[in-house]
Amino acid sequence: MGKTVLVIAEQKDQKLRQVSLEALAAARQLAGDGGNIVSVLVGDNVDAAAQQLADHEQSQVVCVTADILVSYEAEHYFAAVQPVIDEVKPDIVILPHTASGRDLAPKIACHLDAGQISDVVAIEAVGEDVTFKRPIYAGKAFETKRFLTGPWVVTIRPNNLQADATNGAAAPIVKRTYTEPTPVRSQVVDVQRKSGDTRDLTEAKVVVSGGRGVRSADGFAPLAELAEVLDGALGASRAACDAGYCDYSLQIGQTGKVVTPDVYIACGISGAIQHLAGMSQSKLIIAINKDGEAPIFDIADYGVVGDLFEIVPKLTEKLRDKIAA
Ligand code: FAD
Repeated sequence: MGKTVLVIAEQKDQKLRQVSLEALAAARQLAGDGGNIVSVLVGDNVDAAAQQLADHEQSQVVCVTADILVSYEAEHYFAAVQPVIDEVKPDIVILPHTASGRDLAPKIACHLDAGQISDVVAIEAVGEDVTFKRPIYAGKAFETKRFLTGPWVVTIRPNNLQADATNGAAAPIVKRTYTEPTPVRSQVVDVQRKSGDTRDLTEAKVVVSGGRGVRSADGFAPLAELAEVLDGALGASRAACDAGYCDYSLQIGQTGKVVTPDVYIACGISGAIQHLAGMSQSKLIIAINKDGEAPIFDIADYGVVGDLFEIVPKLTEKLRDKIAA
């Protein structure tokens, strides 16, 4: 018998995050024949994102909107999804393993008295037996887990599960007005972006990352150019952030962001274990380092031993020519 799966979709700046569609694909895998999939999207002025979500086949998209929901805030987002959870009574709830998904998932698990498996990178379903693969020890190993009882709450890591293509069978969108909890205990009054680049590092298909070897804030300029040519995002090691070469919002690693792009280009990064924790699951790793013994080469698929200030501009130029041709 099929299962009822609730996807807590996510938007950023009113745009649907790609990981929401990956969560929907996971829902399809888990719902099984005769299953029922409902998505819920919370925010302010998110009609276009809800429509994009609804363009992917499912039973229904519930859209909860209000001014106060413009930015993620645990109390309000939970209050927005709770009535939907109570109505849908899901067997499984799936959320993106993002900052807000990680925050919201345990609240939902607690509400449902459910177990939770987080940061899932692969799902294997053989009949009724469903197992979830997730990294442990900062990405040095994987564990495979299964639930013993329901309901299930699962968070999935962006860029790991394949989103399904749009299939034209648009689902109905049900709009809900948000009712604030009383008393309201907290509210986001202002959001100040640390960097002007709104590209989401965790969802980028290409990440060009700089380390201490970049030597200065200006040293990031050739990396930014390469990232632009590849339509990618800029990342950094902690040493580069600590040195003030770039903003901490770019930090990748154990105490920074976790990324799994199709291509990760590490420039002037030695490959410390704390950095690898944030990028070792990237599908293709290219390292540029002038020290041929640097540990980054142990995990790189392609390595270039040399000065990044010579190699990166040449690479950018070649790629620009190739794209233009
Ligand atoms: P370095 O180790 O100094 O390496 C610089 C590299 O640049 C060298 O390999 C050098 O050969 C190369 N180089 C220099 N000049 C050039 C050039 N012109 N061309 C090419 N190559 C050049 N680090 C993180 O990144 N993310 C984290 O989240 C993180 N969390 C941490 C948490 C804890 C608790 C601790 C203790 C540490 C953490 N660190 C983290 C720090 C980590 O241990 C390393 O210190 C850091 O990753 C080193 O950064 P790096 O590779 O840029 O610098």
